[in-house]
Amino acid sequence: MMAALPDSKPTPMMAQYLALREEAGDALLFYRMGDFFELFFEDARTAAQILDIALTTRGEHGGAPIPMCGVPVHSAEGYLARLIKAGCRVAIAEQVETPDEAKARAKREGTPSSKVLVGRAIVRLVTAGTLTEEALLEPRRANVLAALAELRGTVGIAAVDVSTGAMVLEECAADQLGAALARLSPSEVVVPEDWPHGPEEAISRPRNSFASDAGAERLKAVHGVATLDAFGDFSRAMLGAAGGLIAYLDHVGRGKLPLLLPPVARAAEAGMAMDAATRASLEILESTNGGSRAGSLIGAVDRCVTGAGSRLLAEDLSAPLLDVAQIEARLGLVQFWRDRPIERAQLREALRAIPDLGRALGRVVAGRGSPRDLGQLRDGLSEAMRLHHWLSGAPDRPALLDAVLAKLTGHGALTDWLSRALVPSPPTERGSGGFIADGYDAALDELRATSGDARRAIAAMEARYRDETGIATLKIRHNGVLGYFIEVGARYADALMAPDSGFIHRQTMAGAVRFNSLKLHEEAARIAQAGGHALAAEEAHFEELVAEVVTARHAIAATAAALARIDVAAGNAERASEADWCRPEIAEDAGLAITAGRHPVVEAALAKAGERFVANDCQLADTNRLWLIGGPNMGGKSTFLRQNALIVLLAQAGCFVPATAARIGLVDRLFSRVGAADNLARGRSTFMVEMVETAAILAQATSRSFVILDEVGRGTSTYDGLALAWAVAEAVHSKIRCRCLFATHYHELARLAETCEALSLHHVRAREWQGDLVLLHELADGPADRSYGLAVARLAGVPAPVVARAKAVLEKLEATRTATGGIAAGLGDLPLFAALAAEPAPASPEQQLAEALRDADLDALTPREALDLLYEWKRAL
Ligand code: ADP
Repeated sequence: MMAALPDSKPTPMMAQYLALREEAGDALLFYRMGDFFELFFEDARTAAQILDIALTTRGEHGGAPIPMCGVPVHSAEGYLARLIKAGCRVAIAEQVETPDEAKARAKREGTPSSKVLVGRAIVRLVTAGTLTEEALLEPRRANVLAALAELRGTVGIAAVDVSTGAMVLEECAADQLGAALARLSPSEVVVPEDWPHGPEEAISRPRNSFASDAGAERLKAVHGVATLDAFGDFSRAMLGAAGGLIAYLDHVGRGKLPLLLPPVARAAEAGMAMDAATRASLEILESTNGGSRAGSLIGAVDRCVTGAGSRLLAEDLSAPLLDVAQIEARLGLVQFWRDRPIERAQLREALRAIPDLGRALGRVVAGRGSPRDLGQLRDGLSEAMRLHHWLSGAPDRPALLDAVLAKLTGHGALTDWLSRALVPSPPTERGSGGFIADGYDAALDELRATSGDARRAIAAMEARYRDETGIATLKIRHNGVLGYFIEVGARYADALMAPDSGFIHRQTMAGAVRFNSLKLHEEAARIAQAGGHALAAEEAHFEELVAEVVTARHAIAATAAALARIDVAAGNAERASEADWCRPEIAEDAGLAITAGRHPVVEAALAKAGERFVANDCQLADTNRLWLIGGPNMGGKSTFLRQNALIVLLAQAGCFVPATAARIGLVDRLFSRVGAADNLARGRSTFMVEMVETAAILAQATSRSFVILDEVGRGTSTYDGLALAWAVAEAVHSKIRCRCLFATHYHELARLAETCEALSLHHVRAREWQGDLVLLHELADGPADRSYGLAVARLAGVPAPVVARAKAVLEKLEATRTATGGIAAGLGDLPLFAALAAEPAPASPEQQLAEALRDADLDALTPREALDLLYEWKRAL
């Protein structure tokens, strides 16, 4: 915001500026002056700092110099991009009349001409959520604007990707808003004034623009329909949000709305639920480490060759499905391409060349289209029709392929028209014409012929003047100020100065003198006139073509979406064939059977370092729902937990998965939690956060959910932590009864196996070999035998004397543990736990020992391990 300005009588320009500045509100004001956008006062300081450009001053206001900076209009997009990225909003004030028009106006109004000021107006607000320009958008990322409205405890969400017009309406309970926003990941959120929920950085708009009846009217008006029934069922909260969204778009576009496709209603329970913490911890679209695509799931999976494909894949991964038929349809399409490597390569080659149809369409409909965008639509739509022709002959087409193929065709008339009308590579600027093809419009051809004739006549004139004057260096040139002129070196000028020479003096330069002639003037006028008419004709054709595209917008958007779906499937097939991923089997039960599963991101990182990833199985069933996983730090517990969550997520998103076989019982909600100790750097309240998040699982998980808990309870003291971990594991096992992988370093938790019938013990294997710790990253059944903490410390480079001292301390501690039964002694007798577990009394140590002896695979033990085992048994008695 600007600082308050001291009172003084402002100049007319200052008055105009201040009025626009006021109107721009919290946005920076780009004030057009000729070829520059200028910024003044606080705006200038802010922009100069963000853009790292020179801050100067111009004139004075209230006795103080006015800070100023500016950016050239022709390169403004790059600067805008940086300001938007830095969180700014920008109001663009353009000159809305020419100086001549301003003078004419002044005359009408009787203003003295010295006071004439070109009229300016804010034509657009540029905000993070409302961008359409190619240069301001990331090709592989959707750019979502969301608006929220609340009605009796239900929050309506309207979300649109303004660059492609795709619009979704949904609703959720207020406490689920965070999860919904995490899924949509909007770059800008609009809310009514006094909004009680997040997000903090949301933009407030007048309450009345969120009224549901007005929202319904706005939607109807945008789509020219009398009723919304054909689009779906929308609740009042959704309509309120939609109204707020459209009103905001109208506000930032100053009355010009962008492309808006018919809204799609998304039911609250349509997909697999994931809250914000789960999304962040699984690093689906960005890694926690710096928020980049590199290191994220999508970074490891995406093999799409088009930006639209990558955007759709991101959407798929953000909202995995819950419907077996829909998942199978996607998998069928992946399989189709997986089985046809040669055709897949051809397809991907073809897709790679297809322009971003959806975004070109978005720009054209928003009134910011260029001839090049029309050319892109022409090329993309023709290519889509070619693909349709090719693929509709393919045998064994899966149902989804037929469905998308139907969307690729039907643009014959439009592409023919565009092909006839446009030159092969139309320019990005339409102001200077030259994009309408020869032969399209006879009148335009004639105008071009006229100016061509005149140009040739001028060229001939130059030769003739050289002959007539005998000045071999005489030239006819052109510039923006004089138009066409004749130029000779200064020493030849006298001959041409003579009154009867037929030349008219225009300008004397240092070494040259410039003239005009009647004949030259005539030809130049012919060029100018024909050129002006030609430009007007091209402009008219452009508008006509744009109108045609606008009419066909829904079909074009459907084609763009169909191409993206094909790209996603082919890309996933490509990824699957690179590393032998398999087609998951989707079931309706509560099982989870993954054979030789791998973590796509960790595997890729290891491969880079030339290391091999160790595949691991995971077998959860109703009778064996909870795996408690122990073993040394760095042993691969987190990786195992996450890889299984990611495999579930990929499968339900309709992708092949990194495993040799996978059978996934549908998961309704996925939860991932990481103990606070892993995030200590984030501050003291992390344990609180950990507990809040864990509480959310206990409140929301169902028996169809899948939960991974990584070292929960770690962010506090040993006793508290163990007690919490114990209680959480027990509740997940006995109350929620969902599938769960629980990694912990508390050995004591192993005793839960005594009371929880569907809980089993597992560990990541490690060996000490010649004093060194070898982490095998291999999962094995049974409890972890010891923690190897000291060995890990040695591995990490803790100095030998410190490790030795720790060893002595440990021995002391362990002696006490043996004497007292350890910190978990007697836990099984706690009434609370016993009530929850509702299990028969635990086996006696003797019974356990007999069982362990029976289960021990003596052939698989090294002598050392056998000895360790003996010691352990003896300790247990
Ligand atoms: P923990 O949770 O037990 O402390 P992590 O899962 O964080 O261990 O794994 C530590 C490191 O071990 C990983 O960064 C990775 O480099 C390696 N690792 C984990 N799992 C595997 C595996 N299955 N195969 C190969 N290396 C692995």
